[in-house]
Amino acid sequence: MARVVLENVSKQFGTVQAVKDFNLTVEDKEFAILVGPSGCGKSTALRMIAGLEEPTTGTISIGDGMVNDLPPKDRDIAMVFQEYALYPHMSVYKNMAFGLKLRKFPKHEIDQRVKEAAEILGIQELLDRKPKQLSGGQRQRVAVGRAIVRKPAVFLFDEPLSNLDAKLRVQMRAELSKLHDRLQTTMIYVTHDQVEAMTMGTKIVVMKDGLIQQVGPPLEVYNQPVNLFVAGFIGSPVMNFIPCRILSKEGRLLIDAGSFQLPIPEKRTSYYHSLVDSEAIFGIRPNDIYDRAFAPETIKGNAVRSVIDVIEPLGSEIHLNVTTGQHNLIAVVDVQTSYRVHQEIELAFDLDRMHLFKKDPPHLRIKAEE
Ligand code: ATP
Repeated sequence: MARVVLENVSKQFGTVQAVKDFNLTVEDKEFAILVGPSGCGKSTALRMIAGLEEPTTGTISIGDGMVNDLPPKDRDIAMVFQEYALYPHMSVYKNMAFGLKLRKFPKHEIDQRVKEAAEILGIQELLDRKPKQLSGGQRQRVAVGRAIVRKPAVFLFDEPLSNLDAKLRVQMRAELSKLHDRLQTTMIYVTHDQVEAMTMGTKIVVMKDGLIQQVGPPLEVYNQPVNLFVAGFIGSPVMNFIPCRILSKEGRLLIDAGSFQLPIPEKRTSYYHSLVDSEAIFGIRPNDIYDRAFAPETIKGNAVRSVIDVIEPLGSEIHLNVTTGQHNLIAVVDVQTSYRVHQEIELAFDLDRMHLFKKDPPHLRIKAEE
């Protein structure tokens, strides 16, 4: 049973403030993902939990106790890094057993734990091989196995999949999710890949410039991003952002984007009313823009003329880069028809899924739901 709590944690390296005012509770058995662009401080936060960096301020608790003064080996954690650092001269079995041997576990206990971990990871056949006789994915499993045998209260992962090719990453993502399900242990995982965060995490922690931007379940962060940064970081292709002015006309609110106007759904009027006659940023995800010819009837009225600049056929869907007036947008459309570059197309917007952000930094999202 281990909950991990960080309170008012910060880390200063000389003049660089890598982590600022970090407050986070990861509940027991949660799979929390720290995600953000390179340099945002996520590895530093993880290393402080592991005890590999000392916080400049704040307290860190694992389970029932504060661990600030405990060395890594006494924190009941196991960490898997991007570089697996397996001992090349040792077999897989010995690599996995090594940590337990150092801790003077009895031989039969070591044997049982290594075999159990090998079974969980499906690497029983590899126990006699040396690391150089393994594929990247198999090495990754051994590195995870080395952590599993410790039976730690908390697993810490620092970008463990970044050295794998794209296909293997997808497979290992699913395997780590299954592993979490089976072990029912708290896991904290660092990545810059928002797809890993969305697919594996039960809780996502989005970071930027050392600061937490938003904490929540993946779909909540996707559907209700707190600001423009989170909206642009989570989701692929990236959300479209269009500077606009909010107008009120005959009791209805409108988005005025210069080259086009769109009606704001009535149920949002009360939320957006304070923005009337001011500038804002309209956000709409590419998946919420349709080719009008194939759009649901209810949104066909919210259409704007566009010109196709680039067509990216992905097999199951097509990404269209279009110009709408002075704005460039991306729309994800179905493969129901063929398109050509420079073609004019009417795009319909599902405005029930629109977002509005304040014009000024930090570009907070205007809440539109209870
Ligand atoms: P990446 O995805 O590139 O690993 P990250 O989000 O994990 O990035 P950190 O490695 O935590 O970011 O680094 C956060 C900031 O702290 C960066 O500006 C980095 O240069 C700085 N930093 C990290 N470690 C040290 C160190 N030992 N000495 C000085 N600065 C450091």
